[in-house]
This record gives sequence, C-alpha cells and structure tokens, in this order.
Amino acid sequence: MANGILSIYSIISRIFSKNIHVEDSKKSKRPDKYTTGFNNTANDCFANSTIQSLAPLWRLNEYFTAMINYPLPSEAIRYPMPLHLAMIDMLGTLQQPIHSNKTLSVWNLLHLLEQIHQGRISRNQHDAHELMVMIIDTLEDEYLKFFSFISKLSEDMKKDVAKPPHFPFSSIVESKLRCMKCKQTSLPVKNPMMMLELITPQISATSLEKMISNSRSEVIEGYSCLVCMVKVMILYQSKLTLTLEQTEFMSRMKEKLIAGELLINEDYSEDPLYKGIISSNSILQDDNLKSVVFRETSFDVPPDIIPIHLSRSIFADTQSWRNACDVKFPNKIEFKSMTSLVPIVYKLKSLVRHKGTHSSGHYECYRKKPQFFKSEDGEYLDDIPKVTFKKEEQVTSELKNPKKKKKLGSVLSKPFWRVSDSKITEVSEDSVLSDGKAAYMIIYER
Ligand SMILES: [Zn+2]
Repeated sequence: MANGILSIYSIISRIFSKNIHVEDSKKSKRPDKYTTGFNNTANDCFANSTIQSLAPLWRLNEYFTAMINYPLPSEAIRYPMPLHLAMIDMLGTLQQPIHSNKTLSVWNLLHLLEQIHQGRISRNQHDAHELMVMIIDTLEDEYLKFFSFISKLSEDMKKDVAKPPHFPFSSIVESKLRCMKCKQTSLPVKNPMMMLELITPQISATSLEKMISNSRSEVIEGYSCLVCMVKVMILYQSKLTLTLEQTEFMSRMKEKLIAGELLINEDYSEDPLYKGIISSNSILQDDNLKSVVFRETSFDVPPDIIPIHLSRSIFADTQSWRNACDVKFPNKIEFKSMTSLVPIVYKLKSLVRHKGTHSSGHYECYRKKPQFFKSEDGEYLDDIPKVTFKKEEQVTSELKNPKKKKKLGSVLSKPFWRVSDSKITEVSEDSVLSDGKAAYMIIYER
C-alpha cells in the first residue's frame, strides 16, 4: 500500500522540484539567514504569503505523517489525496534549510487546486483569506473521503480500524447562555469551526484578545429565564389561580428544579400549560422577573492550529476600503476548552500582512523560524518534525544528541523571517508584534 503512495509522492516531488531556481547570490554559513521564497510573476503575493504561513506549522507535519502512515485495512480503497501530497512536497521544500537565495513558483500548487475544483483561480481576486479557506476545505474534503471507508464497515469491523488522526484545523465550539440571576445555563449549542473569523472594529486601536472576547461573549437583557420563572411560580404558588393540569405541570417543574435538571431555555417555555399559567396571573408578567444572560463560548474539541482572520473590509455605498485599526496581538494566546481544566496555550507561528487599498495592495508573510542548533562538530540541526514514511525510520528530527549543541543566537534575536515573495529578511519578534495595523491573518499553534 505504502508503495503506491510513495510513487505518487515521488512523481509530485519531481514535478515540483523542477521549478526551483537557485540564484547566484551571497552564501550564508548560518542555515537561518535565508529560506525559500516564491516568484511573483503577476499578483502572486496573496498565494505566496498564504503558502508561506503554513510552513512553520509542526502540527501540520505531524498530521501529514500520521496520514501517509495510516494503516488502511487491505479491503479499503485508498483515496489518493492529491492536495495532501502536493502540500507535503511544497512545505517540505520551504522547510528545507538553505544557505543562499532560492525561489520557486506557487502556481504548480494553484493549478492543482484549479484541477481539483475544475475552475480557475483568478489572480485578480488575490485574497489570501479566500485561498486559505479553499486550502483548508480541500484538505478536509480529502481527509473525509480518505476515511469514508469506515462508515461502510460493519460495527464489528469498525472496532479493528485504527483511529483517524485529528484534522489539525478542526474544532467544535460550544456556546451556552448563563442566567446572571439563577446562574443556571442553557442547553449547549455546538458548531464546527476551521478558522476564527473576526470583524475588525472601526476604531484606531484594539487588542486581539478583546476582539475575541467580544465576538464570543454576548449580553442579552430582558431574557425570560425558565428557571427563574419556575422559582417565582413556586414562591407565589398560593396566590396563583391554577387549573388542575397547571398544578400538576408545576409540581413536575418543581421536581426537575430540585433535581437540578431544569435548564434556562428548555422546550417547556413553549408548553401551553406554562404559557397559560403566566397569561392568567398578572403577578408573573412583571418585567422585573426578566433577567440578564451571558453567552459563554469555549472549545468542546480544541484545534491544533487556529488561523485567525481579521476582516478589514468596509463597504459603504459602492465604495470599499480597508480598515487600518491597529490590532495588538500577543506571541501566546490562551483558549478555554471543555476537555482541559487549564486553558490551552497557542503560540504565534505566522502572520500574513496586507498593506495598501482593498483593490490593490501587497501581501507579505512573517514566518517563525525553526529552532536551529549548532553541534560541537559544527553541524547545524533543527527541530522540524519531518514528514516521513515510518519505514524510513527518520520520523524524529535530527536532534538525536541532546547534549553539546548550542541554540543559534540569530534564531533567538531574530526568530522570524519576513517573506515578501522572493525577498527574505530576518526580523525580531517585536517587529512582528508591532505590525498590528497590517495584520490580516494570524496563525497560532498548540
Ligand atoms: Zn435564571
């Protein structure tokens, strides 16, 4: 089975490697001075930056390794996953340490996407966010097709199948309402999420954390809380005019309340008996009985990678322009999860910046360098988890000898590359974090 994949992989490798051009330029001894860039023949910067932003994601490499090594049962048909293989090849090339300027074209990958979707990617559209969504959606589609064989198996056979790896962008966001009076919550609503979409406020400056908490929490006033209302009904029971049926309904509610099983938005609030009790008793119609509720959001299933899109388009009349709000963002961000008691920490891995007007602008990418080390015999090593077939026994990175190696000073002082198509510069973390006016897509990783 692995042989079939290997040959497709090596064919794609050959197609892609043809397009690498090594320019005659100064050579660097350090492996972190340069990284592979992309040519820009005509408005390619949107795609160049998007692909670059995926290169420092080690979780993506771990996922790719798990996918190509997945032990597929012999009776299952292997779905070929063309985008997975092309991404493994492209990102592998970008992750390869180099010592002089080197560029390649992004169009082999874009043409493959065009083939998969039987459509054309317009250079004029040039939106990095749209391309990112397309790549993630296509990868997910291939992932689902690859594992579609499981649903065709009998329950008995399903038990013998290895667990699919977690798709690294996939998460489930759970939101529920909490009443500020009784502290009880509503039934949770669960929604899948691949990218965190935020609308940049039309103010001069804000912080990413504030934008996230504003998007995730919501205050609703004048909410008719079922739990609060049932409590009031019980309190005033002797003063209420009730039919026999309504009395029976009330005692059922009381039992649920005592058992702690009553939620603030259950279907009972639509029950004619419940509505009847309220409409025939004016004491229960007081607006003061309404409460304030908060919407709380957290991850039910946290993602390994969170791309955050800061939407900066402002449309007014027929015009559209770019919102240049300065969004302060941290190098580490925490998210609450149902599955863990402590918040999960995500680290900044890349940033796609956009400057210029809405219709004509330039995209660049800040990309986190790997940790480079120098061994005592002058050899350079890095901590990239390579995507490999397990057979090759090279799954772990080259860091076999943990002692007697030194972190490169240049990685500590300038841990990011700023990639503008083929131009590579080394930059400090501060210069990345202070580029909040241009930040367009920010990618964090667990
Ligand atoms: Zn309440």
